[in-house]
Amino acid sequence: MQKTSQQDGHQMNGVPQPIRGHEGGTDPGPRNVPLDGQNPDILTPPRTDAGTIPNMKFSFSLAHNRLLTGGWARQVTARELPIATTLAGVNMRLNPGGVRELHWHKEAEWAYMLNGRARISAVDQEGRNFLDEVGVGDLWNFPAGIPHSIQGLEEGCEFLLVFDDGNFSEDSTFLISDWFTHTPKEVLAKNFGVAASEFADLPRDIDHTRYIFPVPVPGPLSSDRVSSPAGPVPQTFSHRMLAQEPIRTSGGTVRITDSSNFPASSTIAAALVEVEPGAMREMHWHPTNDEWQYYIEGQGRMTVFASEGKARTFDFQAGDVGYVPFAMGHYIENTGDTTLRFLEMFKSNRFADVSLNQWMALTPPELVQAHLNLTPAVMNALHKEKRPVV
Ligand code: MN
Ligand code: MN
Repeated sequence: MQKTSQQDGHQMNGVPQPIRGHEGGTDPGPRNVPLDGQNPDILTPPRTDAGTIPNMKFSFSLAHNRLLTGGWARQVTARELPIATTLAGVNMRLNPGGVRELHWHKEAEWAYMLNGRARISAVDQEGRNFLDEVGVGDLWNFPAGIPHSIQGLEEGCEFLLVFDDGNFSEDSTFLISDWFTHTPKEVLAKNFGVAASEFADLPRDIDHTRYIFPVPVPGPLSSDRVSSPAGPVPQTFSHRMLAQEPIRTSGGTVRITDSSNFPASSTIAAALVEVEPGAMREMHWHPTNDEWQYYIEGQGRMTVFASEGKARTFDFQAGDVGYVPFAMGHYIENTGDTTLRFLEMFKSNRFADVSLNQWMALTPPELVQAHLNLTPAVMNALHKEKRPVV
């Protein structure tokens, strides 16, 4: 059973029960006790929750997993989480040497490396190329339509991909093998200026899309380099997010990566947030866009305030996706004993948030006090500088 700081859900013989003070009652079943244990604020919502609010949580553990010879991939898109219209996510594993096939798609692709290392390649419309290696905490961003590949190195890798359209599907990308096997061989011959017989060994029907397939682990990065007459891409497609100096507060850290420090990421902005046990990502909202969240480690809970007296609380742990519609107020509290680490993602070129505390501190105090009858202790605790984790 998870710790929760405010709700008073009862346990009987270690089983959580939907009881809140004098309200509710036991649940004799049928029921899914492990799932109830992971979602204590759904089973027994805080008294402040009210109204009908769409679901804002979906776990990669509930997403169809596509298993292939070189690894696996699963996605959380608007099909799994209908409210998530702005961004979609893919969680992918590449075994040592495993290749995510050369491909492109209509959406920009942003990625965060969760485990291991990968080699990534791309070529832009001017014939400028890109090749790099990324490890834990590194990012890449491939603009929409730009062809690219990913390959797991010695220890393989696992990463999160984020696309700037909630309706993206990882199953609808443009694969190089798919195009070859759906083009007449005479046309291939004409295109490449060789005999049609040269294409006799293309992948056959049964495996006409390689998608994720095994290849020997490549040699050193330098041995893989191809020189382009047009030179390399002018703006690198990779970025060391975890190496950024974070904003530090007493309760944790925040690293913000957007087009201001990673120019290639022109449509997706991100914040990597670490919240220590007992601390909280402060009450805030985003003035420009919806927020798509990915939980990397630890556990937390979030209440989303939707106006009109409506609010709903969700619990999260590693591998979960959360979502906050544009402008809705929220906080994220660490409810565990370890660091809570998650990503806040936005379909935007810039990260932006509005702090409730800072707003109140920078507004005439008599005006603020007239609204809420706040005590001097509360008024004195307001701070004019933003403290994202408290
Ligand atoms: Mn891609
Ligand atoms: Mn937020």
